[in-house]
Amino acid sequence: MSLTTPSLETTWGFSALVERQGQTLLFDTGGDGSILLKNMAALGVDPGRIQSVVLSHIHGDHVGGLEALLDTGVQPMVYVPPSFPEDFKNLVRQKTTLIEVEPGQWIMEGMLNTGEMGTSIPEQALILRTMKGMVVLMGCAHPGIVRLVDLAIQLVGDPVYLVMGGFHLGDASNNRITSILEEFRRMGVQKVAPSHCTGDKAIGMFREEYGDDFIESGAGFVLVIEP
Ligand SMILES: [Zn+2]
Ligand SMILES: [Zn+2]
Repeated sequence: MSLTTPSLETTWGFSALVERQGQTLLFDTGGDGSILLKNMAALGVDPGRIQSVVLSHIHGDHVGGLEALLDTGVQPMVYVPPSFPEDFKNLVRQKTTLIEVEPGQWIMEGMLNTGEMGTSIPEQALILRTMKGMVVLMGCAHPGIVRLVDLAIQLVGDPVYLVMGGFHLGDASNNRITSILEEFRRMGVQKVAPSHCTGDKAIGMFREEYGDDFIESGAGFVLVIEP
């Protein structure tokens, strides 16, 4: 089931709130802390409810909202790829607990991390285990969307129910997108919800390929999945 909340402010960036059995996790923070806090207020999300923050990669449009969130006085555990810059990690450590993630590290019940992948822009993805299979949540997929989904399969081995987030295919050729679609079918990805840096052309090709299994997403989008 999905529904959208229209009254949110938007800008370039990515952030997703994950709630599961009384646990609340924020995956990325968007680029603008004031927009993050305003949208959380509009959605009735008290910052104190967020127990964990997982940051996918160091780009400002994913980590920029963190400082404003921590400045509200809340102290969630912040999970980052170990290769994050030391000055960023030290800033977080001054305010709360920072955890440098290892591959397959559990964050909360039913949620684990891929660990960091890639060298030029190292990135981690979040895996949610559900009755229907894994939900793999991406920030920008800089190391490659197929590699990150493959890593989730190697780590957990469940069927892939949904891949969601930024697929980073803004400048990809039709041939490349077609081969990624083939890889998605090979990996058994059942549903897709590409957004953010995926690019309009790639989003169109995913929509066409996946039909009813393509999920339109964006700011304010809410998806409810059986635990
Ligand atoms: Zn990025
Ligand atoms: Zn991004």
